[in-house]
Amino acid sequence: MDNKTIYLDNAATTCVYGDVAQKMAKAMTEDYFNPSALYPQAVDIAVELRKIREHIKSAMHAPDGELYFTSGGTEANNTALFCTRKPKGSRIIIGLGEHDSIFVSANELKAQGYDVVFAPIRSDGTVDIDEFKKLLTNKVSFVSIMHASNETGGINDVALLVKLTKKVAPDAVFHSDGVQAFGKINVNLRALGVDLYSVSAHKLHGPKGIGALYVKNGTSVKPLLFGGGQEKGMRSGTENYPSIVGFDCAVQRAVFDEFDENYSKISKYREYLSQQLKNKIDDVVIITDIEKSVPNVLTVAFKDVRGEVLLHSLEKHGILVGIGSACSSHHESRFKGLLGLDTAHKDGIIRFSMSDGNSIDEVDTVVEAIKQELFVLTKFKRV
Ligand code: PLP
Repeated sequence: MDNKTIYLDNAATTCVYGDVAQKMAKAMTEDYFNPSALYPQAVDIAVELRKIREHIKSAMHAPDGELYFTSGGTEANNTALFCTRKPKGSRIIIGLGEHDSIFVSANELKAQGYDVVFAPIRSDGTVDIDEFKKLLTNKVSFVSIMHASNETGGINDVALLVKLTKKVAPDAVFHSDGVQAFGKINVNLRALGVDLYSVSAHKLHGPKGIGALYVKNGTSVKPLLFGGGQEKGMRSGTENYPSIVGFDCAVQRAVFDEFDENYSKISKYREYLSQQLKNKIDDVVIITDIEKSVPNVLTVAFKDVRGEVLLHSLEKHGILVGIGSACSSHHESRFKGLLGLDTAHKDGIIRFSMSDGNSIDEVDTVVEAIKQELFVLTKFKRV
């Protein structure tokens, strides 16, 4: 990325920090031994892997369970959905705003004969608790509600949702997709009470293609891949040690070393962006509830313009933003109808997502560019 690019799509992915990349390079070129081999160099890698697993678990306050490395959030979510034991025909509750790796998978389970129901969301993208309660019966075997929304940054009250679920269906397995939450807010799995939790490294300045599924002790999960028995038999295949090292280094920075500093810096940028948009742009709707969301996401709706059109018109200023989930255009269209926006704003959604690499000056530049582009796009109706 050149110096002039202003990158505000960090919920889609983040740049890998330089020291993360360096540690990965060393793992590839020097510490390349297969941890299943028997000589001391390989045993050292196996020992290091065990330490990393404990380290990442401690970053989630998750002492009483296992962490299985996966190829990312999508695989962790698919494993949660497809590899847990559920009586045929039992009820599965999924949040309507879930990422496609849950939503599309849930539709597959529906096709297999499960009673899949979707919990409606509120205008900030979080699950409507009263509506959720109405879906609970003692036939519920599985629930998946994301910790933070990739569309709005809204944080679900997962602890409450777990409590409500277990009261009615004590044996139900509760999964939460923590991909947008881990590293952004304090994640305490013991306090949340979830059985399964998914994370992904590339949302917190780690490499792409690596993530993990946390499984609380006592939760029955079948293996996804069979073979050499790695990951305690859950996911065979030689461990992706370089990426795991990168993930670990990114977690160390995001959760332990720089959490407070980044949280206040990024919240300040977001607060400033929100204020400036409200002050300088007519009729902007702020969708993200700043009080109840991860600090890095601000989703807004502009009037009488299509989000995609504005997104592309900002590219010539070197500004890169999102229109919600980068993963699927189907998902984007599904989501925007759920927020209760009026017709003039419904298509004008833009998601800004920041990182510690942004600045207040960049926010000023972005707001100025939006003002200019909206003037052209809306005054001359080139929408
Ligand atoms: N879950 C959420 C909430 C996401 O935002 C994403 C990525 O955008 C994923 C899951 C998928 O993660 P990965 O890209 O690591 O497969």
